[in-house]
Amino acid sequence: MVLAHNSLLPIAHLSFLAAIAWLLFHTEHKRNKNENSLRSEVEDLQGRINIAYQQLELEESRNKASSAKLKKYEALAAFTETLNQNLSLEDTVKTLLEQSFALLGAERSLCMVYLAIDSAQGLSLMGAKGSSPEAGIIKDKQGDVFDEWVMRHAQPLLVEDTLKDFRFDAQRLRAAVKRRIGSVISSCLISQNHPIGVLRLEDPSPGIFSLEDLRLLSTICDIAGVAVDNARYYQRTRELAIRDSLTAAFTRAFTLERLNEEIQRALLTNDTVSILMLDIDFFKRYNDTYGHIAGDAVLRSLGQWLNAYFLNRGAVIGRYGGEEFLLILPSSSKEEAFSLAENFRASIQERTVLLRRNPTRITLSVGIAACPQDAQELDALINNADSALYKAKRTGRNRVCLF
Ligand code: GH3
Ligand code: MG
Ligand code: MG
Repeated sequence: MVLAHNSLLPIAHLSFLAAIAWLLFHTEHKRNKNENSLRSEVEDLQGRINIAYQQLELEESRNKASSAKLKKYEALAAFTETLNQNLSLEDTVKTLLEQSFALLGAERSLCMVYLAIDSAQGLSLMGAKGSSPEAGIIKDKQGDVFDEWVMRHAQPLLVEDTLKDFRFDAQRLRAAVKRRIGSVISSCLISQNHPIGVLRLEDPSPGIFSLEDLRLLSTICDIAGVAVDNARYYQRTRELAIRDSLTAAFTRAFTLERLNEEIQRALLTNDTVSILMLDIDFFKRYNDTYGHIAGDAVLRSLGQWLNAYFLNRGAVIGRYGGEEFLLILPSSSKEEAFSLAENFRASIQERTVLLRRNPTRITLSVGIAACPQDAQELDALINNADSALYKAKRTGRNRVCLF
C-alpha cells in the first residue's frame, strides 16, 4: 500500500510540476507578449511624438520666416514713407543707405549708392555705409566691374563668390579694388525706363547674400529710383530758383535770406560777419561802348572770378542788382574782409576781357560793413555797406572803403 502509494506519488507530482511549468510558461509567454505589444505601442507613440515635434519645428521655422518677412515688409513700408518725405538728394541717399544696410547687411558688409549725375560722365559714388573703416575710404569713386555690369544689363546681380564667378575677372578686380570682396548683390535704380544708378551691398566673405535678398534689394531699388529722381528734379528746380543764370551767383532773395541767418548766427555765437557791396565802375559807359551783349559777357566773367576767388574762403556770393554784387563773409572781421576785397579789386583791374580780339578792362568799387560792429540788423547793415560803396565812388572809384 505504501509502495502503491509511493509509486503513484511521482506521477501526480510530475503532472503537478508540468502543470506549474505550463502555467509558468504560459504566464511568461503572456507577459512577453504584453511586453512586446507595450514596447511596440511605446515605439509607436515615440514615433508619433517625433513626427509631432518635427511638425512643430517646421511650424516654428515657418512662423519665424513669416515674422521675419513681415518685419522686412514693415521696414520696407516705413522706408517708402521716409523716402516720400525726404526731398533733398543727400537725405534720400542717406536713408537709402541706412535702410538697405539694416535690411540686408551682415556685420562686415558695405552698402554703396552710385548715381549717374550726368549720363555722359558715368557713375559717381554718392555715399557708403558699413561698420568697417573701409566705408569711409572707397577709392573706386566711379564704380567697378559689378556696377558697370548692372548699369549695362539694367538687371539685378548676385555674385555668391567673386573668385568662382566666370562673368568677372577676379584678378583684374583684385588689382583695381584694394578691399576684399567675397560676395555682392547689386541692383539698378531705374527712372523712366533708364538706369540712373546702382544700389549695392558687398561682403568680404562669400555666400553672404541669397536670391531672396536680391529680390528685396530690387524692390528697394524700384521705390528708390523714383525717390532719387524726384530729389534730383527738386534740387535742379531749387538751383534754378536760387541761382542767377548769367553769373551763377545766388539771387538777391536767397542772398538776403542767407545774410539774415548769418547775422543771427553771429549774434548768438559772439562772432562777426562782414559784407561786401561791390559795383562795376562806369558800366553804363561799357555797355554803350561795346554793346549789351559784351556787357553780359563781362558780368559772366566777373561771376567766375568772384567764385574762383571767394568761394573757397567760405563766402556767399549774391547778385544784388544789375552789376552790383553782395558778398557775405561769415566769421570774417572788417579788416580781413578789407584785405580780401582789396586784393580782389587789384587783381581785377589787371584782367582783360577780349571783345572782338580787343582787350577791355573793368574796375570795381567796394563798400564794407560788419555785424555786430556797424549794425545788428539786415537793412541797417546793407545800408551801411551801401554808404561805404558810395564813398568809394565819390572818392574816385576803383577802391575799397570801410563804413
Ligand atoms: P558807377 O556805378 O560807376 O556810378 O557807374 P555805372 O555806369 O556803373 O552806373 P550804374 O551802376 O547806375 O549803372 C548800371 C548799369 O549797368 C546800367 C545798365 O546799363 C548796366 N546793367 C545792369 N544790369 C545789366 C545786365 O544784366 N547786363 C548788362 N549788359 N548791363 C547791365
Ligand atoms: Mg556801376
Ligand atoms: Mg550799380
